[in-house]
Amino acid sequence: MSATDPNCLFCKIVEGTIPSRKVYEDDDILAFHDIHPWAPVHFLMVPKAHVASLAQVGPEHERLLGKMMTLAPKLALQEGCRAYPEGGHRVVVNTGAEGGQEVHHLHIHVMGGPRPWLKG
Ligand code: AMP
Ligand code: ZN
Repeated sequence: MSATDPNCLFCKIVEGTIPSRKVYEDDDILAFHDIHPWAPVHFLMVPKAHVASLAQVGPEHERLLGKMMTLAPKLALQEGCRAYPEGGHRVVVNTGAEGGQEVHHLHIHVMGGPRPWLKG
C-alpha cells in the first residue's frame, strides 16, 4: 500500500530518516509529537502511505480514516489528556492553503490538556 513522496517531510518521518518523538505506530498509522506544540498535549497522526490532504481521500481510505478517528481519543488519554467531558481534546485537519495546511501529507492534529493554550 505504501506510496511515498521522496520530497515529503512526513514521509521522511514515517521512514525514520527524519527523527520524531513517537506516540503510536501500527502498519497503517504513525503518531508523533508536534515539534511546535500549541497545547500541553499536541501530536499528529498520519497515514504511513502518502496522501496529500483530506481533499485527496476516496472510498479506499474510509477504513483508514475511521481507524485514525477511533484511535485519536485513546491516544489523547494515553498522552495525558483528561477524560471527556471535563477534559477531552481537539481534532483538526487543516486542508489546503486557505485551510492553513503547511505540510502536504494528510495529518490529524490532536490537542488537549489544561488551558490556556498557546493558540486556539
Ligand atoms: P499544518 O499547518 O496543519 O500543515 O501543520 C503542520 C504541523 O507540522 C505544524 O503544527 C508543525 O509544527 C508540525 N511539524 C513540522 N515539522 C515537524 C517535525 N519535523 N516534527 C514534528 N512536527 C512537525
Ligand atoms: Zn508524504
